[in-house]
Amino acid sequence: MSDTTIRTYTAEPVFPLQAQLGEGPVWQDDAFWCVDIEGKTLNRFDPATKAHAAFDADQRIGVAVPTDNDGEWLVGLECGLAFWRPEDGAPPAVFATPEADRPGNRFNDGKVDPRGRFFAGTMSMQCDAGCGALYRVGADRLPAKVLDGVTISNGLSWDAAANTFYYIDTPTRRVDAFDWDPATGAIANRRKVIEFAEGLGSPDGHCIDAEGKLWVAMWGGGAVLRVDPASGRVVGRVEVDAPNVTSCCFGGPGLSTLYITTPRIGMDAAASARHPHAGDVFAAEVEYFGLPTEKFRTA
Ligand code: CA
Repeated sequence: MSDTTIRTYTAEPVFPLQAQLGEGPVWQDDAFWCVDIEGKTLNRFDPATKAHAAFDADQRIGVAVPTDNDGEWLVGLECGLAFWRPEDGAPPAVFATPEADRPGNRFNDGKVDPRGRFFAGTMSMQCDAGCGALYRVGADRLPAKVLDGVTISNGLSWDAAANTFYYIDTPTRRVDAFDWDPATGAIANRRKVIEFAEGLGSPDGHCIDAEGKLWVAMWGGGAVLRVDPASGRVVGRVEVDAPNVTSCCFGGPGLSTLYITTPRIGMDAAASARHPHAGDVFAAEVEYFGLPTEKFRTA
């Protein structure tokens, strides 16, 4: 095999979520969690029993990450950022509304950096160009705007060994890298890692594996692509039987299962008939490993 060979895998549907807009996959407490943004729910699946629990957020929920308090999540909503204990039955407790002046925006994808800070972006619900931003929030719970002029703020990951942050603003068709300062969380020196050809779809969510390669969900591309950020080349491909693929994370024992979220939204009847599992959660066994889920550090 030459080093330009693209390894290919096929994902299988594993959880029948039938989400309108499945996103934000997280492996936590031996279970798979994800949001349905338009369905306004946080969802938990137990891979052993297939048991499904759906928790109603009462508004669009773009992202949910676990905190270092057992059972508590930090969530990005339409109105702002909140702490939530979904299994207690109480509604999310909002602690920050950095875009109270932009009621047409909502929070979208987010993730915790290797030092326990939460990064999450916003977008206009009409997808208006440049109306979103990226925020960082630490234990002081005060969001700092770290990037402005974003259109559809999406996938985030960090390579802690390289002090690098990877980020996707979907309409740019790029994954970009930034220098990341572990001491402060500051990001700087934005540069392109890869710009995807139009036929591959548009990059949405992504995650990083233990080798520092990126697994990028392709909206309109029916696949997750593994990208080597050093060369800017696609080195692997996971086929997904859904036209739009939104995000992915590693989970399962040993963190070697790639879990993949998809939506039903935006598909006509013919497309839905061709792809009956669109909206479900897919999984692929790959010979690579993910990193443990970072939790938001509350102190
Ligand atoms: Ca997304």
